[in-house]
Amino acid sequence: MNELESLFSSVRNEFPALNQKVHGKTLRYLDSAATTLKPKAVVDRISHFYSYETSNVHRGAHYLGDVATQAFEAARQKVAEFLHAKQIEEIVFVRGTTEGVNLVAHSWGLTNLKDGDEILITEMEHHGNIVPWQMVAEKVGAKVLAAKILDNGELDLEDFKKKLSAKTKMVAFTACSNVLGTNNDMALLTKLAHEVGAKVLIDGAQIVSQSSVDVQKIDCDFFVFSAHKLFGPFGFGVLYGKKEILDQMPPYQGGGSMIAKVTVDKTTFNEVPFRFEAGTPHVEGAIGLHAAIDFMEKIGFEKIHAYEMELLKEATAKLEMIPDLKIFGTAPNKGPIISFNLKGTHHSDVGQILDQEGVAVRAGHHCTQPLMARLGIPGTVRASFSVYNNREDIDALVKAVAKAREMLL
Ligand code: PMP
Repeated sequence: MNELESLFSSVRNEFPALNQKVHGKTLRYLDSAATTLKPKAVVDRISHFYSYETSNVHRGAHYLGDVATQAFEAARQKVAEFLHAKQIEEIVFVRGTTEGVNLVAHSWGLTNLKDGDEILITEMEHHGNIVPWQMVAEKVGAKVLAAKILDNGELDLEDFKKKLSAKTKMVAFTACSNVLGTNNDMALLTKLAHEVGAKVLIDGAQIVSQSSVDVQKIDCDFFVFSAHKLFGPFGFGVLYGKKEILDQMPPYQGGGSMIAKVTVDKTTFNEVPFRFEAGTPHVEGAIGLHAAIDFMEKIGFEKIHAYEMELLKEATAKLEMIPDLKIFGTAPNKGPIISFNLKGTHHSDVGQILDQEGVAVRAGHHCTQPLMARLGIPGTVRASFSVYNNREDIDALVKAVAKAREMLL
């Protein structure tokens, strides 16, 4: 065992889910790109909140109300530091990546986009970063264009540049493809978009569990992510937006907390970020995310990245040795995600056989139908790796895929 392996073998112990058998086999959880398992520290923190601190926030005239509000706002401060935002007001709490994109598309988009404008996305986007733009584009008469990808799964930078023009008002792209694993150069794409005067939204769903993000260095206008993909709770996420842009955006939803004053005839709205947080928020979501970021920081982003790259390298090399196996996405700069198919088989059949062996992967189109159309396939099997995986998981995956090949071919 090398130094990283021994560090991460103790990290693995913090995930109770891994101490169970499925179908009589040791669970090999290789579906972290869909959602990560939750460490004990996060589960315990949420349990503590529910047991001893339950109270609504921003309303309290009592002790527990203050405790909950302080914990909720401390989470906002933590997220601001995690993303290296300039100020805490730039952190809006939402339901997840999908709601973050919808908020920007509807609030910013409906105010700023008009007939003839263009929104540039890429061929590797998740539906969450496609559909909201289409909905808004249809309403205002704007057009959604997608920059192409190369055969190895990298973004075709020349095509991206070609599709940027004075008509481009928004460039929305993923930091890391949930299928191909491709990491995009966030700062470069942002710079190119800004050169034509477009705003930039980055879908950070897959990047936040892999490396630390500095929104000021990247200079993006918006950045969205979901807590459940970085060891935190479901139903919670973050929209970062530059303060000067958020200040100009109208509310997305109306209700309690987002108001300054309400009369029967008229409402004036609260300051950002509260203007975008109508209703009772997902308090334990914020608190759980805080614990999840603490968990990652305790390990260290550099170590996490180095370890996941070791897993990716080893799993890629071993899978490549299986005859008839094709990997989709071989960009030099990749996250720990491997999509593949066995020639002549259906991804769902392979997925089912792997499940019987205790190997949890995702099989399907991964909410990226335009990408599947570009690749000319209905879906893939996807194995994704995280801090709690190890060599035995990789070996179990490889063995199960070899078995699927024997059974299906
Ligand atoms: N974008 C990417 C790249 C994703 O991987 C996902 C989740 N699979 C999403 C967006 C949507 O995230 P959520 O469902 O948590 O809103």
